[in-house]
Amino acid sequence: MQRQSRNLFDAASIPNDLAPIATVLSPMLPGDWRSMRPVVDRERCVKCAVCWAYCPVQCVVEMPRWFDIDLRACKGCGVCAAECPHRAIAMIEEAGR
Ligand code: SF4
Ligand code: SF4
Repeated sequence: MQRQSRNLFDAASIPNDLAPIATVLSPMLPGDWRSMRPVVDRERCVKCAVCWAYCPVQCVVEMPRWFDIDLRACKGCGVCAAECPHRAIAMIEEAGR
């Protein structure tokens, strides 16, 4: 009797380079692509923590006498500078980009 059906899917027929997938984890932090960065004026900062509360990626870190920015994670959105009630944060352009 003649065979009526055939295998529709044969994994061995898929070329190896059809859909390459990542095998090595390569984290891309915002610090790699950010165009602006916040700079805290330590004399103006009164440690009110408003910037800490508003930062969407929670990269504002507490220092002994001021709040500073973890620039590895900061995406440069400027929210902290806009919300700081003491105008203690300035956004400056990243150099060399
Ligand atoms: S909001 Fe401004 S004054 Fe308040 S902690 Fe942040 S930088 Fe300092
Ligand atoms: S610029 Fe944006 S991401 Fe960076 S510290 Fe300020 S609020 Fe957070």
